Amino acid sequence: MHTDPASYARQLREETTGATIEAWRRKNPGAPVVGYLPAYAPREIVYAAGGLAVGIWGGGLTMEIVQGDAYFQSYICHLPRSVIEMAKMGSFKAYAGIVFPSICDVIRNLSGMWKVLFPGQWVKYLDLPQNLDLATGGRFYAGEMRHLASMVLGREPDGEYEERLRAAISLTNRQHEAMSELSALRSAEPHRVPFHEYYDILRAALVLHPEEHIQLVQAYTQASRVREAKPLDNIRVVLAGAFCEQPSIGLLRTIERAGCYIVNHDLLLGLHFRRAPFDTEMDPFEALADGYLNRSKMAPFKYQGARDRGADLIDTVRRERADGVIFASPSFCDPSLLEQPMLQDALDEASIPHTSFKYAENTGQYQGIREQAGTFSDSIRLWGEEAAR
Ligand code: SF4
Repeated sequence: MHTDPASYARQLREETTGATIEAWRRKNPGAPVVGYLPAYAPREIVYAAGGLAVGIWGGGLTMEIVQGDAYFQSYICHLPRSVIEMAKMGSFKAYAGIVFPSICDVIRNLSGMWKVLFPGQWVKYLDLPQNLDLATGGRFYAGEMRHLASMVLGREPDGEYEERLRAAISLTNRQHEAMSELSALRSAEPHRVPFHEYYDILRAALVLHPEEHIQLVQAYTQASRVREAKPLDNIRVVLAGAFCEQPSIGLLRTIERAGCYIVNHDLLLGLHFRRAPFDTEMDPFEALADGYLNRSKMAPFKYQGARDRGADLIDTVRRERADGVIFASPSFCDPSLLEQPMLQDALDEASIPHTSFKYAENTGQYQGIREQAGTFSDSIRLWGEEAAR
């Protein structure tokens, strides 16, 4: 295991060459590498086939977009531009296929473009269920996942594969447990777990196999428990809206430096949104469907039925003893921005202070955000709940 988990995780985030994935391929010749777009994909299906699932979460702050802009209108978020840019550079050419979860029109259109641009690679547009009933939406989704498994395997999944799928579910249950322990420590003692390090550790799940990622998370958690650090006079905030295109690490650090401990968030949400372990006894495809429908948190991309997103956010604020909410949404992100007014109304009614800003993954100027987050923090420290009025 790496002696400094935080710097290893930082290296993984900064790596632009795909060297870690290449090294994995060399160690596992012939095993499939499968990419998946945000915000959630059943990674277990790839692990059960002996493969590696790699999250394609955009190009980040430093990627120069040369070709990507030509494929999209100006009023579209930034993520698909950098994904196309990386694809045109050949970053994913060794991948067996790519999964596009049905979270928004942008991802759907990107899946169609991929079929035209990269015909040598299979594309799975994964229809996440819009019906919460396990017997209807769950059955449909289990069928979708069987189809995905047959694409990853190159044949129909058999009983032996289903056993391996159960083992993969158990593995990602352990991975979620490790991430939850770290998140609980971060929430209880944020001064011991700098947010940028915590984020890098979570983010490493995009490229590492869960076996390795669990070790990384546990080593970092263990080291953080005994870290010498003084608590700061920061307010506690929930960060909402950043589940897909990611803000830069500099932006996250800016929020914290402006006096806000981020104690709960929806960054990279699909990697850590399990509320309870998924079942490891039932049919594994149905267990994944049940897990998505019944054992995962609410999310902007997930159909909620009559469940109340505002009440869910307020519960999170109260559970985390948060002082307020910062809405951070990617520019032009429909799923994030469409629900924001409803969530803000719910917070207003509950007298919970909130503020909001938009970003793109390549936003590198933080002065405005520093002032906004700093003012938010100061106003809460000075006036408490009155700041919401
Ligand atoms: S940032 Fe929003 S609009 Fe863009 S791909 Fe992600 S979910 Fe879709």
